[in-house]
Amino acid sequence: MQKKSTITFYGGAGSVTGANFLFNTGNKKILIDCGLTHAGQLCYVLENKFHYNPAEIDVLIVTHAHADHIGRIPQLVKDGFRGTIYSTPATKDISIVMLADALRILTDEADEIGCEPLYSRGDVSKAFSLWQTIDYHKTFIVGDSVHVRFLDAGHILGSAMIECERDDKKIIFTGDLGNSPELILPDTEKISNIDYLLMESVYGDRNHEDRRNRREKLAQVIRENYKRKGTLLIPTFALQRAQILLYEINKLVEHGYVPEMPVYFDAPLAQRVTTIFRRYQKLFNENVREEIANGDDIFDFPQFVSIKNVSESLSIEKSKNPKIIIASSGMSNGGRIRLHEKNILGNKRNTVLFIGYQAFGTLGREIQEKKKGKVYIDGKWVRLRAHIKSIRGYSGHKDSDNLIKFVGDSAKTLQKVFVTMGEVKSSQFLAYKIKELYGLDTVVPRQDDVEEIDF
Ligand SMILES: [Zn+2]
Repeated sequence: MQKKSTITFYGGAGSVTGANFLFNTGNKKILIDCGLTHAGQLCYVLENKFHYNPAEIDVLIVTHAHADHIGRIPQLVKDGFRGTIYSTPATKDISIVMLADALRILTDEADEIGCEPLYSRGDVSKAFSLWQTIDYHKTFIVGDSVHVRFLDAGHILGSAMIECERDDKKIIFTGDLGNSPELILPDTEKISNIDYLLMESVYGDRNHEDRRNRREKLAQVIRENYKRKGTLLIPTFALQRAQILLYEINKLVEHGYVPEMPVYFDAPLAQRVTTIFRRYQKLFNENVREEIANGDDIFDFPQFVSIKNVSESLSIEKSKNPKIIIASSGMSNGGRIRLHEKNILGNKRNTVLFIGYQAFGTLGREIQEKKKGKVYIDGKWVRLRAHIKSIRGYSGHKDSDNLIKFVGDSAKTLQKVFVTMGEVKSSQFLAYKIKELYGLDTVVPRQDDVEEIDF
């Protein structure tokens, strides 16, 4: 048997997004994740082609359903991939709604530019016909004597670390690692006795703001807005963040920490994802499962309104204040949020609350920074008179200290740590810290680098 295996870093090297690692075990080519690099990656052109032949890949294993880990799977199929795709059942179910939504946006935008979209509806359905699901902790064999298990990463519902084992050698691909302890999900599983680790480093060089006060801060923003009889608008990501927000508001309302008022959930994709969360309650942490067993519906509370269609969405504006509107997209670069922003930003009674990261160049970032005093939304200038608030304690990723602690559990056996899925300075800082603290060999790979491992 051949003893040396290789990993090629086709994506997620020197960048947070675009996770795509090829694990060649000699007789099998195993791809780990196949994510989009950025939202603008939408035309089927040379610069968006894979740097390998997808037809030669035997297996694709998926860590979780965020676009930067699954967004290019249909393109992989379009370009000839016919192997098996593996993920946890929750990851597959969420991927179905996420990729359907991505396809809709992709097709619209490609049409506007006049280019061939990255993939089509047919490619998406073909991908799901190749897709098999495996529960956490169940060992499956992908060939070449490689045994694989999914371990709970605690990042989003269904998120998994991928453990590959052959003979007495073990490697783990972390995907994204949850900011444990998290509100709904269990903690990231502890790992030990592994030889190689390929890990994320989104927050490799930074620690999170104290999160103990985040619920109190949220309550305060809600109460202030209530007193002003305004509209509180909360832009939110559809997956995980929206469900956490509902969970928090449910707690605040049911314990009487904030007054009851209408809460409009105007985010179709987030609604579909929430339905999947309900289906997988068995994956929630013990606390939340107990709350549910005691009769609480953690995503429902008095005066909660799930908006069904565009005409209902349009009528929210005319409804009585004070009220709360939760809408997507999380960075205001599309979706129903923009219309609400247009309606409410000009009035100082109202509030916009950001609970997620706003990337540079997005409307969300422009509103959050409030630099110009006005923003341009879909053909109209709107003055920024509303209160603008941010709570940064709801990150879904481990911060620097916790990433270091995570590696520490397996420091005794690790031969090498590949620090990926972060900006270069973030990955380098984390790699330096791991080396300094545990004396481990670390590598910060660049795109298309190949590393040999003893596996
Ligand atoms: Zn993620």
